[in-house]
Amino acid sequence: MKSTIPAITIALSILLTACADKTASTVDKKIPTLATVSSEHIANANATPEVWLSYGGTYDEQRFSRLKNITQDNVKDLGVAWTYDLETSRGVEATPIIVDGIMYVTGAWSIVYALDAKTGEELWVYNPEVSGEDAAKGCCDVINRGVAVHKGKVIVGVFDGRLEALDAKTGKVVWSTLTVDKSMPYTITGAPRVVKDKVLIGNGGAELGVRGYVSAYDVNTGDLAWRFYTTPNPNKEPDGAASDEVFASKANATWGDSGKWKTEGGGGTVWDSIIYDTVNDSVIFGVGNASPWNPKLRDPEGNGDNFFLSSIVAVDADTGKYKWHFQTTPRDQFDFTATQSLILADLPIGADGKPRRVVMQAPKNGFYYVLDAKTGEFISGKPFVNLMTWASGLDANGRPIENPNARNWENGFVNIPGPMGAHNWHPMAYNPQTKLAYIPAQQVPQLLKSNPDADNDKKMRWNVGLQYEAGVPPVYPKGTLDFIRKDFKGNLLAWDPVKQEARWSVEHSGPGNGGVLTTASNLVFQGNIGGELVAYNAETGDKLWAKQANSGVVAPPSTYAIDGEQYIAIATGWGGGWALNYGVGWPKAVTPDVGHVIVFKLGGTGDVPEIPENGIVMSPKGDAFGDDALKMHGLQKYAENCMVCHGPLVVSSGVIPDLRWSYQTADKESWNDIVIGGALTDNGMVSFSEYLSADDAEAIRAYIMGQAWLAVANGDAKEPSND
Ligand code: CA
Repeated sequence: MKSTIPAITIALSILLTACADKTASTVDKKIPTLATVSSEHIANANATPEVWLSYGGTYDEQRFSRLKNITQDNVKDLGVAWTYDLETSRGVEATPIIVDGIMYVTGAWSIVYALDAKTGEELWVYNPEVSGEDAAKGCCDVINRGVAVHKGKVIVGVFDGRLEALDAKTGKVVWSTLTVDKSMPYTITGAPRVVKDKVLIGNGGAELGVRGYVSAYDVNTGDLAWRFYTTPNPNKEPDGAASDEVFASKANATWGDSGKWKTEGGGGTVWDSIIYDTVNDSVIFGVGNASPWNPKLRDPEGNGDNFFLSSIVAVDADTGKYKWHFQTTPRDQFDFTATQSLILADLPIGADGKPRRVVMQAPKNGFYYVLDAKTGEFISGKPFVNLMTWASGLDANGRPIENPNARNWENGFVNIPGPMGAHNWHPMAYNPQTKLAYIPAQQVPQLLKSNPDADNDKKMRWNVGLQYEAGVPPVYPKGTLDFIRKDFKGNLLAWDPVKQEARWSVEHSGPGNGGVLTTASNLVFQGNIGGELVAYNAETGDKLWAKQANSGVVAPPSTYAIDGEQYIAIATGWGGGWALNYGVGWPKAVTPDVGHVIVFKLGGTGDVPEIPENGIVMSPKGDAFGDDALKMHGLQKYAENCMVCHGPLVVSSGVIPDLRWSYQTADKESWNDIVIGGALTDNGMVSFSEYLSADDAEAIRAYIMGQAWLAVANGDAKEPSND
């Protein structure tokens, strides 16, 4: 293979800091009940840390809890209070919401669970029954990041595009609204946010060809209140939406008049971060990547910035009217979403060191941004990664200074950060005492190469306009996988947003680690892909406590208190885009994906459930066949159709079956029944007959069986036994 990925070492200095403790609240305490919980409670959530009312804990979404019962001294006594089995082997990304002694949490397939927050007793389960056909519209596993609560209702965004309000006591549907055009490959994975009397939700789908938007619905009825589109109307005409004016005056001109954006929507999906700035009455949301990624296909005649791709956008909370935007990656072609966690904070950077209200983000593109929350003015931005190939820095306006080769994909460009980002959806946290942000950072290089065949329309399926594969031929030498893996890195990074520099960093065994919680005892909690939930000293990064969760952890913890006892809650279950897209990048010992809710308290004496045997024998179940030309054709078709879920080089993380060890791959007829016949549609493995002929399917099978036997030859798998 070509040695295109450089070896990198991360060496960050560790500095100590001392911080004064100032957490006393002057706001009257009004702990909400199920019936009363509302936007006002979320606005004052810092006064009631006993409950966790919204995705990021408060509207500022700092994921900072004022609870202090668990301290740096006693955190070593944390033990399991209770566990609950989510009965899934797919990804779990939810933040548990806690109100009135009840925990509301989601598992895979948008299933909602109501649990007694003190005992873990199941109160009700709501399964919206997402179909396998709809599951296949997702880029990144059938995951869900959690619910919103408002006056007796629990609101969930369902994977197939429904927004549903459930009775918080019974789980029965109160209202259900379809937020998307079902003929397009839209999905919802994000958590809804309630702002005043509206509930806000966006969607995903930019890799498959959609037009992004964020919508506000009446929280009592589910009726649409306003919608803001993030890419132009296909004819640059008004949509009758809140975004019409700014497209006419500003945004339409940044797009040309031809190209795939007109039929594939241009992308810009608002699939994750949506926050509310109570001071300026703004809803601020992060906008995703382009569709298709390749601008030569997307907007071939234009040369504009393509608003509002990869932007942070602020709108009026009541009307959805445009206030400001900041584009992190103009004319995105790198999958550089700006959907990552947005955090509001007051930093001591105003005149005479006075606090200035800012919004902060560490998006995929590797720069940490600090913007004025009222105006969107760029204040500062610096790379939070040690190695970056696409840009050398930001200019005075915050515009990236790009590497002149970064967009030249004819011969390929190795981008760092790659499309998985220097930071993905795993939420970061900010501690106003240490004045540090805690980022689940990572390094995942990716070769980006134009695909000469990308003109073929592939509606409803992954289609980004480039050769999306690792550039590794069907036969590669022993040690290649280890070589690739050593450049896949993950770390927990403590970042000073005032000085724009790292304070401390802790290395993980690979990328894609869990979201972060920080507390007033100056603790930082984070789960990791090695299966541990860890508590760190927020000032120094010293590891103070760890517990093996017997599952990889990607979700962020939340915390709450009942009867004076503080609890730390985490939903485990490794999966999501990481697990599907990048099996090859994982350390071999990555912990299996078994979804549970695990809740800890001081002196807890419970046990974490054991890891079940998966029973999969890593050996080929049939013979290799086919010549080199057939396998090469199979590799191309695999890369275009299968790789995003089953993994580059046919190495799966295990969340989705590793096709090399499957009995179905070894059997021509079963293979054809599944790939062409759609026999496993209910699992999300739909028929590919629209995109693949039976001969293509057989070529893919030849490539995979070749990979299975290559793994044996390279010592990565066992020879089949004859018993
Ligand atoms: Ca994307």
